[in-house]
Amino acid sequence: MSEQNKFDFDLFVIGAGSGGVRAARMAAQTGARVAAAEGAPLGGTCVNLGCIPKKLYSYAAHYAEAFEESHGYGWEGEKPVLNWETLKQRRATEISRLNGVYENLFKGAGVELVRGWAKLQDPHTVQLDNGQTYTAKHILIATGGKPTVPDVPGKEHVITSNEIFDLPEFPQRLLVVGGGYIASEFASIFNGLGSTVIQLYRSEQILRGFDREVRDFVADEMRKAGVDIRVNANIASIEKTMEGLKATLEDGSVLVADQILYATGRAPNISGLGFEELGGETAKNGAIKVNERYQTTIPSIFALGDVTDRIQLTPVALAEAMVLVDDLFGKNQKKMSYEYIPTAVFTHPNIGTVGYSEEQAWEKFGDIRVFRSEFRQLKHTLSGSSARVFMKLIVDVATDKVVGMHMAGEDAGEIIQGFAVAVKAGVTKAGFDSTIGIHPTTAEEFVTMRG
Ligand code: FAD
Ligand code: NDP
Repeated sequence: MSEQNKFDFDLFVIGAGSGGVRAARMAAQTGARVAAAEGAPLGGTCVNLGCIPKKLYSYAAHYAEAFEESHGYGWEGEKPVLNWETLKQRRATEISRLNGVYENLFKGAGVELVRGWAKLQDPHTVQLDNGQTYTAKHILIATGGKPTVPDVPGKEHVITSNEIFDLPEFPQRLLVVGGGYIASEFASIFNGLGSTVIQLYRSEQILRGFDREVRDFVADEMRKAGVDIRVNANIASIEKTMEGLKATLEDGSVLVADQILYATGRAPNISGLGFEELGGETAKNGAIKVNERYQTTIPSIFALGDVTDRIQLTPVALAEAMVLVDDLFGKNQKKMSYEYIPTAVFTHPNIGTVGYSEEQAWEKFGDIRVFRSEFRQLKHTLSGSSARVFMKLIVDVATDKVVGMHMAGEDAGEIIQGFAVAVKAGVTKAGFDSTIGIHPTTAEEFVTMRG
């Protein structure tokens, strides 16, 4: 029997999320025989419980301030009220449409979709929960991650980002625990939608890892917009009472809320997968260990995306998938670079960032120049809003290269995505200076920073 026909498939992908769908489709398009197993709706976390529904809710929340600000431009009338049922239902319809798009992408590419939860039986065999088994030359684990909640007494009463999109009742009082992407985004979003939000963060400033000035600026702007951010604060226990969920904090104070959202990190999704039982190596938190080819310690099994716990972002999982497929079925010419990966936090205001924070840049480059600007954008001269914009450029003195770009303000993600191409390509500050601005925009400030 030829090597090819020894197995049912050339590639069997476990998990049809961001990374798995991209790997399966791209591999099938090279002519490889590919199957993908998925136990939940297609598209994974990003489509069903992450990026997409989150961004839709963020858009919904921004309307609140837009209605308010429009008065400054002469618009009159009562502020509309949010119908939570309508928002949930419109979101669900759009997500179902996307699930269908993913199914069609598989059909179009010739990927065989098998429905169910998969478990590894041996290095070349996968078993579905209906008992069906499949063999493959290569197996790819792209099973993503899941939210984690620390062991707090009363943790059974809390929700995670998985539940927040479909709450039966709109939470008028929301307590958010955590200071990372998810906590800060949902604190902003529900504040915009109309909840009274308190965000508790265990240390001294939210958004650890981002540029310090950006963190301070965003925390101030979020507070100005109405989010009650309390730092050096954490919950000791939770109780369900007639008045709502009663959270007793470590300092003894008590807060009462309709819902408590824990956004305290995510863990790799390997439970029930059988990877460790086969002798596959994982890190302490369950992250599957891979080499630079995304190969695990079992040579026929590969892993990428959140289950490897590198950078948990959809475009990173997509890029890793492209590199893997090129390695297994293509010309092996693509390489993944983890430097200068742009990212956005959809807080209100948004953060957009690429490259090094000022703190990281001092450590890495030693001699740097920092350009910063904080101002009120043109739109708000009439809107009455006191929202401000913050921008920052970090330049390595030795090479004149821009090694960090940070923005907090409206559409920061959109703006930084554009500039990220130049930063990745090694643009210098002289390159910025010689670029003509587009007037009047907020982004033009980046090419006119001289001080
Ligand atoms: P996933 O997309 O999680 O896919 C894994 C899939 O595997 C799932 O569909 C799961 O059901 C399936 N699976 C698991 N085990 C099995 C099994 N045994 N058998 C069969 N199927 C299995 N990233 C961004 O870039 N931008 C954002 O704005 C953003 N917002 C986010 C907001 C939230 C609330 C969350 C939680 C995440 C967000 N992310 C965002 C992160 C992004 O969603 C992830 O980085 C991305 O989805 C990872 O892709 P993946 O392929 O590794 O895993
Ligand atoms: P993060 O790791 O970003 O943040 C977790 C937060 O919870 C941190 O503030 C952490 O504090 C805090 N925390 C951890 N453990 C505890 C505890 N026991 N008690 C109290 N607080 C605790 O995880 P998220 O869940 O926010 O998001 C996971 C990943 O998903 C992100 O890192 C990101 O890669 C991705 N994502 C991307 C988005 C985007 O691109 N816009 C949006 C949403 C998610 P400390 O800082 O002290 O460790």
